[in-house]
Amino acid sequence: MLDLLALRAPGSLPALPPAPLGFGRVLGPFALVADHDPERGFHGARIVRREEATTVASAASVQYALSVFEGLKALRGPSGALHLWRPEPHARRFAKSSERLTMPVLPEAAFLDACRAIVKAHEGWVPAHGKGSLYLRPTLYATEEFLGVRPSRTHQLAIVVSAVDAFYSSPLRLWAETEHVRAAPGGLGDAKTGANYAASLHAAERAKKRGFDQVLWLDAHDHDRLAEAGTMNVFVVIDGAVRTPELDGTILPGVTRDACLALLRARGVKCEEAPISLREVHEAAKRGALTEAFGTGTAAIVAPIAAIGSAAGVIELRAPGEVATTLRAGLEAIQQGVADDPFGWRVPV
Ligand code: PMP
Repeated sequence: MLDLLALRAPGSLPALPPAPLGFGRVLGPFALVADHDPERGFHGARIVRREEATTVASAASVQYALSVFEGLKALRGPSGALHLWRPEPHARRFAKSSERLTMPVLPEAAFLDACRAIVKAHEGWVPAHGKGSLYLRPTLYATEEFLGVRPSRTHQLAIVVSAVDAFYSSPLRLWAETEHVRAAPGGLGDAKTGANYAASLHAAERAKKRGFDQVLWLDAHDHDRLAEAGTMNVFVVIDGAVRTPELDGTILPGVTRDACLALLRARGVKCEEAPISLREVHEAAKRGALTEAFGTGTAAIVAPIAAIGSAAGVIELRAPGEVATTLRAGLEAIQQGVADDPFGWRVPV
């Protein structure tokens, strides 16, 4: 379909800016783009200057938020060779998000080759082993200029990248949000769409004004069951059992969440995917049974949670806890290529 691996960058790569890189701030100069229409499917793949991957105000992506994306990492192993971290589940989630918004599905093999091509174009921007990663942001957006509400006939795929530091998230203080919801049953919660993030920002800003870092999202019906921790999946440890909400359609199926569960279960740790009530969390905290809480996601890997605030009071937690610390170390060792990879999570570029 697309000879992606033959693509070349339109110019030479400038030097990677010096650390600290932060997250999402130092953008790579190139973007891989391809177009889609019903007649030709995905076609015209090319690597362009990042500023050329753009769309216009009358496009359906701007008007109706027809836009989905992924976030995944490329890293440098100890020998200097490059690998992608779990690109297949990211490709599958990209496909599911696209289908949910009536957008075309990029086949998994093309997703992987497109990721490889844009990493190769930025080879010198993948930080040294152990020093960070190249974060890839594959994005699909509707490009048809039409103001009626219906699926777009044309789309563009664009992959932009950002060089990011390896960082340890400082312990997060979360505010349990009871007015706004991130997702409702039947909504977009399990798809990675731009609209989800648009819906989240007002409450996130309010949480910051209250002196918290992020929102603890709750369910849309009772505002009591834990959903997600900002832009991460949420885990708690109660009575020694690791627990995270089940994937009920309102939760983004995190690739890091899945890796954490696989790693914990391989080590014989009991993990439960089931509803967690905020009331139960308060009760467990009172009797000393809530030993830790943490979030998981591509950017921070594992982020310890230091506090959960709500109208019922603020639960203070020891952060990082033992589970978060060992999980982060275990995952990072596989990710960086210094531990065995029994699950086949590293994919050569
Ligand atoms: N939930 C939300 C809402 C997110 O934005 C993310 C980040 N993609 C996650 C969970 C974690 O997903 P992943 O581990 O695949 O990065």
